[in-house]
Amino acid sequence: MIPSTFPQLGSSPIRLSQGHLNLLATCPRKFQYAFLDQLSSPNSTEQQERQTQGAQFHLLLQQWQLGLPIAPLTQADPQLDQWFKAFEAASSEILALPDSDSASIQQAEHERTLESQGYLLTMRYDLLLSGDRQSKILDWKTYPRPQNARHLAENWQTRLYLYGLAETSPYDPEQLSMVYWFFQGTQDDAMPQSLRFSYDRTQHNHTHQDLTQILQQLTDWLNQYADGESLPQLGPVNRECDRCNFFPRCFGGDSLERSALRHRAQPDQSPLKPADPLTLLEISKIQEVPL
Ligand code: SF4
Repeated sequence: MIPSTFPQLGSSPIRLSQGHLNLLATCPRKFQYAFLDQLSSPNSTEQQERQTQGAQFHLLLQQWQLGLPIAPLTQADPQLDQWFKAFEAASSEILALPDSDSASIQQAEHERTLESQGYLLTMRYDLLLSGDRQSKILDWKTYPRPQNARHLAENWQTRLYLYGLAETSPYDPEQLSMVYWFFQGTQDDAMPQSLRFSYDRTQHNHTHQDLTQILQQLTDWLNQYADGESLPQLGPVNRECDRCNFFPRCFGGDSLERSALRHRAQPDQSPLKPADPLTLLEISKIQEVPL
């Protein structure tokens, strides 16, 4: 039972997924628009198609794991068929636990919830393998393996999923790991690629601190929001704003104007340089720009 003094949206406690935490850490105002104001941020047709196909692949693997027929899905979509063939080719490696432990429990699309500071933190694992000594979270991606593992290590999906499992299972953090599998192969190699993240008590404590901080900050922002104040936004020359569909709502103008703005502010930066991930501390220092 969540005490009524804890943050609520309407009459319900607030449920936060890794996506919400990533949104908050990226830009609190974007979190407000998408989550509190429930404004839609339209995706391009190409993005929507990719998302639909990715969702179908998750459904396909769930059906396979449950022993249900998958031919209707693979026969109707060559791309799904290709990804599934890649999964089959590597399935013995994908479904193995470290240290020769055997996975006695396999749970597809497995959900867990953890209460923290009155928020309900929700995790949804594509597949969770659990044995006597190890438990492994598996996550399916239908795009190529990224070159840089650091961004994924710092992503709230990795951090919350491992933290949540440690908090809601009998395993020690050192017995947990998370593996992302990327099924989009290259021309030269159709085999899926993976990125594995191990876990330990130090990481667990660090995530606990960051989570405590971000949730406390959110509670403060929600109190201010209830009094009519908006959540902080980034500056218009921030690279995150360049790719944000809410730019016109925040600052007006269009993408050409924003590029010009950024170029004037940071003329020596290459347009191809990836954005640095913002920490919550950095965000908290950013002055709110009045609308
Ligand atoms: S345009 Fe920038 S400040 Fe506004 S919501 Fe998007 S990322 Fe945040």
